[in-house]
Amino acid sequence: MGGDCKLKLLIMGPPGAGKGTQAEVLIKELNITHVSTGDMFRAAIKEGTEMGKKAKEYMDAGKLVPDEVVVGMVKERLSQPDCSQGFLLDGFPRTLPQADALSITLDQMGVVLDGVINIDVAREKLMARLTGRRVCKGCGASYHVIFNPPATESKCNSCGGELYQRDDDNEATVSNRLDVYEAQTQPLIDYYKGKGLLFNIDGDQDINKVLADILAVLKR
Ligand SMILES: [Zn+2]
Repeated sequence: MGGDCKLKLLIMGPPGAGKGTQAEVLIKELNITHVSTGDMFRAAIKEGTEMGKKAKEYMDAGKLVPDEVVVGMVKERLSQPDCSQGFLLDGFPRTLPQADALSITLDQMGVVLDGVINIDVAREKLMARLTGRRVCKGCGASYHVIFNPPATESKCNSCGGELYQRDDDNEATVSNRLDVYEAQTQPLIDYYKGKGLLFNIDGDQDINKVLADILAVLKR
């Protein structure tokens, strides 16, 4: 791949692994387009594209958007001119059937993926990161017991209010989210490994070191 400036990549990582942060810096370093399915959904719906309208119908009805609609939206997005200079696909695929559908779509488009970056962080580290958030009852300020602790335990620095843990951040909820991620995504990791596309990156390091590791494997 070395030297090629039109890299076509996919990035994966569990909740709390810092995938979003890495995606943001990586697209700048490589001068490629960030294709985030979350952003794409919002844009397609706002612009009223054919796929956007379809997706909105399902979402308005409180249903999960089916794979063929998501794949259609990804295809629409990757066909836009800014993606011909390379792209980083983020947030998709999440399941094996989606990965198969993506592979067929890319073949049809004549696009070849250069690599899949998997940001790997041990489960106990993810638990610590994801359950550490505390929010002030008084002013809503956000803290983290490891990364951004208050000066006085359980007390807000600015208003002195009591800090609490939101339901979303409790151990059972976080553990369930990680279970779902692992169950859906482990097959994807094996799938891309089998295709020789997987780059495993140690995500339990300083943010700059994680980026350096990604750039190093891409230069190889
Ligand atoms: Zn407060």
